[in-house]
Amino acid sequence: MHNSILNKWLNTNQTCPLCDSAQGTSIGPCDACREDLPYQQLGCDICALPGVSGRCNSCQNQRPAYTRIHAGFTYHFPLPQLLHRIKTGGDPEPLYWLAQLLARKLADKLPKDSQLIPVPMYPVDQLIRGFNQSELLARHLAKALNLPTPINLINKRKRTAHQASLNRAQRRRNLHQCFSLSRTPPERLILVDDVVTTGTTVGRITELLLQEGAREVSVCTLCRTPD
Ligand SMILES: [Zn+2]
Ligand SMILES: [Zn+2]
Repeated sequence: MHNSILNKWLNTNQTCPLCDSAQGTSIGPCDACREDLPYQQLGCDICALPGVSGRCNSCQNQRPAYTRIHAGFTYHFPLPQLLHRIKTGGDPEPLYWLAQLLARKLADKLPKDSQLIPVPMYPVDQLIRGFNQSELLARHLAKALNLPTPINLINKRKRTAHQASLNRAQRRRNLHQCFSLSRTPPERLILVDDVVTTGTTVGRITELLLQEGAREVSVCTLCRTPD
């Protein structure tokens, strides 16, 4: 299904999806828009919090369970708008070119011998949206980087309140028993998410994966929020 969408898009879409006027390229936006995207520059060595060199205060106080977060972009214009459009408009096509740009940026940084695993959505929410954006990102990314096809192994069992609106203790409570695994995880894996906001969700999933037998978990996110 996604291949046919992709081919159709590649054959017919010659307009830049961001500025709508200039000529798009085979990987989406025109050169000018692509260069203007908010690529993640400086960030915390562990959680990728933008604007931090070395480790942020939070990671110094308590090191997260994951090895580190690799982020393609800082969550600045036009990414919040674009992701909102993808999620509410039922059109996952831009995830293809976003994943290609993410792959280019992170190709040398992501661990090579790891299995990609998307952060899951609550099944009803996924049914309503029609897709899980993290799963599509992971699939496009795996193809672009020549990694094995991502596997779904994490189940989300509860619908959760938006993490950003909660304090640290509430965030952890919110995620208590929220996730389960359908089988033993591979030893080395990369969790794929579209936006990492506080890092609590990927941290909680990492703890679960490590408890159940994984040895090393890295995180790859399309975007990292600035705070
Ligand atoms: Zn453009
Ligand atoms: Zn940090």
